[in-house]
Amino acid sequence: MAQASENMAIKLGLQVKAALPVGGACADLSDTGGTIEAELGRWFAVALVVDRAKSDAEATARDFSKPGLFPVNVEGVAERMGVRIEFAYLRDGVSGMIRSRPPEVPVIYVDATENEARQRFTIAHELGHYVERINQGQEDFAFIDERGTKYDLHEFYADEFAGNLLMPADEIARMQRRGMTNLELAAYFGVSPAALNMRLKRLARRQ
Ligand SMILES: [Zn+2]
Repeated sequence: MAQASENMAIKLGLQVKAALPVGGACADLSDTGGTIEAELGRWFAVALVVDRAKSDAEATARDFSKPGLFPVNVEGVAERMGVRIEFAYLRDGVSGMIRSRPPEVPVIYVDATENEARQRFTIAHELGHYVERINQGQEDFAFIDERGTKYDLHEFYADEFAGNLLMPADEIARMQRRGMTNLELAAYFGVSPAALNMRLKRLARRQ
């Protein structure tokens, strides 16, 4: 391998390590069975998703949310985007779904049995699926989010989008400087401690 591409691989590898989900669900993204070109392609794809999810979430917050107000009113954001929220008893293992079938109003279905913090993250995650598809010019689509199913770049994007929308990095840093504990941060952003920890870990690995 030439020195230049080796250096690039190392640099991108660090970015990818930072971008990858924490935990065991990243096998699909980190599978390195192919050539160095294929690996680089995958790394590029992940790094691009990180940037795209961040800028899309920032644009969504700017257009559909009140600046500087936390927790983000994620149901209000959905409503202003023209997306209906339905709390429903979904089948076992399903945390959320989105269905966009024009001319019907797009609908996000959220598991009614989950707690509010998890429901908020689910809504933000499904909005991520919505924004990604709409930005690609697709209006007719549906996603079902089942726990324990394949984690691909679309799921990664939706999680990153939700993390950025609900817990912007600069606001986390601002509140940390004021001495907020992680539990206080989770309450401040209206997310579960698990979702906050995931966000902190991902951000820390990118520094
Ligand atoms: Zn999803």
